[in-house]
Amino acid sequence: MKTLQTDVLVCGGGCAGIAAALASARNGAQTLLIERAGFSGGIITTVGLPYFDGLIDKPSGRFVVKGIALELLQKLGVAKEGAQRIDDLRPDLITKYWGSVWIPNIEEFKILTDDLILQHGGKLRVLYHSVACDVEVKEGRVAAVVIANKDGLTRIEARQVIDCTGDGDIAHWAGCPTTSSKPLMPLTMHFRIGNVVPVKETREAAKQALIAAHKEGRLPNFYGPGLIFAFAKDECYVHATRVPANATDAADFTRAEMQGRKDAWTMFNDWKAKVPGFENSYYIMSGPFIGVRDTRRIVGLNVLTLEDLQQTTRHADAIATGCWFLDIHPPEVTLDKPFTGSGFQPKPYDISYRTLVPQTVSNLLVAGRCHSASSEASASSRVTATAMALGEAAGTAAALAMAAKTEIGTLDGVKVREALSKQNGGPFSDI
Ligand SMILES: Cc1cc2nc3c(=O)[nH]c(=O)nc-3n(C[C@H](O)[C@H](O)[C@H](O)COP(=O)(O)OP(=O)(O)OC[C@H]3O[C@@H](n4cnc5c(N)ncnc54)[C@H](O)[C@@H]3O)c2cc1C
Repeated sequence: MKTLQTDVLVCGGGCAGIAAALASARNGAQTLLIERAGFSGGIITTVGLPYFDGLIDKPSGRFVVKGIALELLQKLGVAKEGAQRIDDLRPDLITKYWGSVWIPNIEEFKILTDDLILQHGGKLRVLYHSVACDVEVKEGRVAAVVIANKDGLTRIEARQVIDCTGDGDIAHWAGCPTTSSKPLMPLTMHFRIGNVVPVKETREAAKQALIAAHKEGRLPNFYGPGLIFAFAKDECYVHATRVPANATDAADFTRAEMQGRKDAWTMFNDWKAKVPGFENSYYIMSGPFIGVRDTRRIVGLNVLTLEDLQQTTRHADAIATGCWFLDIHPPEVTLDKPFTGSGFQPKPYDISYRTLVPQTVSNLLVAGRCHSASSEASASSRVTATAMALGEAAGTAAALAMAAKTEIGTLDGVKVREALSKQNGGPFSDI
């Protein structure tokens, strides 16, 4: 089998992974990013979700995440230079009710992340259409990650490895302890419908159409529906399908992808036939992937818990700040609001470096939604801007470990925090 070598290997080029790869290369480490899709961006581009949640502390309107997440928003013209708070964002791209900001175009995001990768010249290489599929562990280290792509199988020998697969694939295959929510949050296929002319009755009629389809046995599950006009006044972006499944089981994941696609098509056809505003609409696209909220999380050196969010626990080695509400999607029908429970809104809270550090492997960090957190806490820390902040911290740590000739798992998180603050990243300092 062919072997490639690199200082830092980032597996998964989603929200956490793109930030990890950029931070690692910018801090001087030879970095290789691998991603199973043909583009970076994860949920943003593989599912088509434009939101940067976790950026804005809703009650105060202040940003608690800056760094690469904010840089991306600035480069897309969504945030002003030196932006600090919600009023520094393009007003047509924010929802004050949710404390949410979105980007205007998913394709532009793909181009931007490609450009940023290419700007790093030889320091940052990317292999798209490449899936991590196995791990070799020797003496408590990841000795190699095996990837599969059109070259066949390749071993990647990296001094430091960052698992940003969302599912903790590398950590799991390396034997690190992991956990998962019971029940798992369901999957959702997002889709877009063009030429919709919403009228006063549209939302209620769309909901009633889904209730009827469910009663008739044609729609096993749904929520909302969230009919969102984020990209254009006549383009409906739909949050409504709901497929309970285990996305780390290949057969179940495949079933969910098919079910999500079918349910989206059922919704479109029923709305076109019955709902005022959809008469002349057409189906633009779904996905291209169904969205996965919840699978494995590592049980790391520190576990972020609900109590930490409720008590705003402080950590000297905080490397990011979370602020999103407890956004728990149940695996059954919910009308109107998508989440269950109170939707508890924490004050901005610390996320420790040790939530990225698995227990048993010394040269591996895990960033993004699979970092170490309880089910409840991860319902807040899983969102996109928070995931980017975790990725930036992991990439920075990997480069620091290279410079210090040590391994990321044994690095002092306080040093990572200091390095992040010099690059406009890290935890929000004013809380
Ligand atoms: C339907 C849905 C709606 C959501 N709504 C919101 C919202 O409104 N606002 C918000 O902020 N968050 C939302 N979230 C949550 C948020 O999007 C994710 O939790 C966030 O993307 C986590 O970032 P990540 O980098 O961990 O994972 P991702 O962004 O999913 O990135 C993981 C990447 O790893 C790649 N990958 C996976 N396995 C491998 C492998 N073995 N080899 C190579 N590559 C691999 C994937 O292709 C992907 O690009 C939603 C999630 C879902 C599923």
